[in-house]
Amino acid sequence: EGPEEQRLLELFSYALMALGAVSALLLCFIPMPYGRYSSRRFGWLLPARAAWALQELPSLLVPIALAACGGTAIAAQPNRVLLGCFVLHYAHRALIFPLLIREGKPTPFFTFVLALLFCVFNGYLQGRSLSNYAMYPPGWLKDPRFIAGFMGWLLGMAINIHSDHILRNLRKPGETGYKIPRGGMFEYVSGANFFGEILEWFGFALACCTIESLAFALCTLFILSSRAKQHHQWYLEKFEDYPKDRKIVIPFLY
Ligand code: NDP
Repeated sequence: EGPEEQRLLELFSYALMALGAVSALLLCFIPMPYGRYSSRRFGWLLPARAAWALQELPSLLVPIALAACGGTAIAAQPNRVLLGCFVLHYAHRALIFPLLIREGKPTPFFTFVLALLFCVFNGYLQGRSLSNYAMYPPGWLKDPRFIAGFMGWLLGMAINIHSDHILRNLRKPGETGYKIPRGGMFEYVSGANFFGEILEWFGFALACCTIESLAFALCTLFILSSRAKQHHQWYLEKFEDYPKDRKIVIPFLY
């Protein structure tokens, strides 16, 4: 612990931003192989539910373990609230989301390992930053940046969960095909669940005001906007009656 580790976390954050940008470029050529783009070419196929739970679990457990070790900043209230937001998202993603999804397309081993490594790395980055280094002035929880960021995080999470709920209910039990999603933010964008997730992490970054949280938000934007673009094109090719005015991922803009 100390200035050297703080500098290392900063370097890791720039690496995460670069990784996100490079991934977005690569993903223009090869869609991330899971869900509708799942393929045996990327390794053994794992059941989707188990893969989601296991790959996301480190982003829940690593920050909790780091906070439990008692870093120098974790006693402060803003740090606890912000770490709580991160942990709450991953408690849902690792423990509840996998139980809710209908057993969809299996996840290739390669995708599972990439997601697992990302969750270990990012769990460490956000957990360590908020437990040990992020410092906030007195009254930060009443600062407009915190309040606006927190509202963005909350609204984003609500949109993400609501949109995933709409997608899940498109299929009757036993069905595996795809339908046009309707309602909620799907009236505006093809990737409504991804829009929610992007808004969530930009809100979190504003509330945290750390380079680590900004890196995570940018990485999410790069990766999920390219997945949303692929879904959008896929829908346009598959459904003749797909709503023509629907944007890709950012309502009214993109
Ligand atoms: P998708 O939208 O590709 O799929 C979500 C679920 O809905 C899958 O079970 C899928 O089934 C089903 N589904 C999707 N579209 C349709 C349709 N048109 N008709 C019927 N069923 C459909 O989302 P992802 O799996 O990529 O992501 C799931 C969650 O994880 C999202 O909330 C996302 O934001 C989050 N995530 C976050 C990342 C991050 O960087 N922070 C990275 C990746 C995901 P099937 O599996 O059969 O396709």
